[in-house]
Amino acid sequence: MTESAHMSGEAFRKHAHELIDWIIDYQEKRVDQLPVLSQAAPSDILKQLPVDPPESGEPFEAMMADVDRIILPGITHWQSPNFYAFFPANTSYPAILGELLSAGLGVQGMLWATSPACTELETRVMDWLSSMLGLPGRFRSTSSGGGVIQDSASSASLCAMLAARERITEGVSNRVGIERPLVAYTSSHAHSSVEKAAGIAGIGRKNLRLVDADETFAMRVDRLEEAIRRDKAEGRMPFFVSATVGTTSSNGIDPVPEIGELCRREGLWLHVDAAMSGTAALCPEFRFIHEGVEFADSYCVNPHKWMFTNFDCDAFFVADRGALIRALSILPEYLRNQATESGAVIDYRDWQVPLGRRFRALKLWFVIRHYGVKGLRLHVRRHVELAQRFRSWVEADPSFELAAPAPLNLVCFRHRGGDDVNRQLLDRLNQGGDLYLTHTVLDGKVTLRLCVGQTRTEDQHVEAAWERIRDLGRTLS
Ligand code: PLP
Repeated sequence: MTESAHMSGEAFRKHAHELIDWIIDYQEKRVDQLPVLSQAAPSDILKQLPVDPPESGEPFEAMMADVDRIILPGITHWQSPNFYAFFPANTSYPAILGELLSAGLGVQGMLWATSPACTELETRVMDWLSSMLGLPGRFRSTSSGGGVIQDSASSASLCAMLAARERITEGVSNRVGIERPLVAYTSSHAHSSVEKAAGIAGIGRKNLRLVDADETFAMRVDRLEEAIRRDKAEGRMPFFVSATVGTTSSNGIDPVPEIGELCRREGLWLHVDAAMSGTAALCPEFRFIHEGVEFADSYCVNPHKWMFTNFDCDAFFVADRGALIRALSILPEYLRNQATESGAVIDYRDWQVPLGRRFRALKLWFVIRHYGVKGLRLHVRRHVELAQRFRSWVEADPSFELAAPAPLNLVCFRHRGGDDVNRQLLDRLNQGGDLYLTHTVLDGKVTLRLCVGQTRTEDQHVEAAWERIRDLGRTLS
């Protein structure tokens, strides 16, 4: 190898084959043998990495040797079948192939003209997804709205808030400023990304009201209504509500129909954040979670959580694409082109914060085509079934209790021994490396969360998880 040469096609072919073999071994043989939560201490990895970059090029074999030696011990194995923490970020071989193809094509799809297929495939796949999830027709590109792939649900919330801000101020907030403080609302159990969006969008975190939740951890509509009334009476301008379908802590499902009617009466933008749980709506029997979504101005779900599509891939839908485009469009001379000017094409750069964009639709397209809707439903049902089995074991054991309703694939539970026991249980489980769970606090009590959503999680994994939790619980109480 000469130092300055590009990697030859022949070498790329060889290393790519080796790397694919490595990935298959990792996924099928190694990942469930490794401690799920990385046991690395702060700086463990950094200490092993040279401070200075190499002056001369190095062979690929040296890089892969370091992956095994340095990187893998610093990995928390999100693809382990024993990963039950947070919400999943699952993947699948078709998704990985789509990601590889995206890198191989190296397309930057900021404008329709910079790769028509990047835009048009995304339009079609988003329309597919919208119908697969039973979303209202208004969210389709063939109607007034459409879908776009964002990097994350956080970006989707931000874009929704920016569009809402421009809609309520009729486009002057950016040019002239905002006369009266704008106020946004979400539940006290909503994801922190809504608060972050309020900060970034210039609304101010202090102008985000965290509305109380009920005993099922769903937003209280009476409290929302009161807060809106109070803000109006005090001269502020309510403009945005983010409802959650499947809160992160507890899988709470906000009453979207009632919230939607209120938003419509009051002229507020309704965003529905279904980042993880939205995937369940692939199955008709779980589609109740989308009740009221017909009132929404925007909606998002993360195929990168539970739909076998590797991070990053958030599907963001709007009912009125004009509102989003008016908020985010900007056209400097160097981006002008005939297709844009003709008005006949979509330029997704106007639907997101960054200009540049990756060809993410490929991986979602591959996933949907590989599994088909039936295949995706099968796996989602399986995950819910496994979580429900776990829930039944918790309910039947006098040492444990359920901490929240568990309608889908997240089970929130706790040992009856109190916070210290639950903290110890969590630490010991995670340090043991056999599985990885995370916690939350519900009703003031430390609560453990077990979310089933990894591609390779099967009965035996969930059974082993329960046995481990139950047995350890016995030694601690
Ligand atoms: N919304 C909900 C309900 C979530 O659970 C999460 C993450 O877990 C997010 C938003 C943020 O997701 P992202 O990492 O895609 O920004």
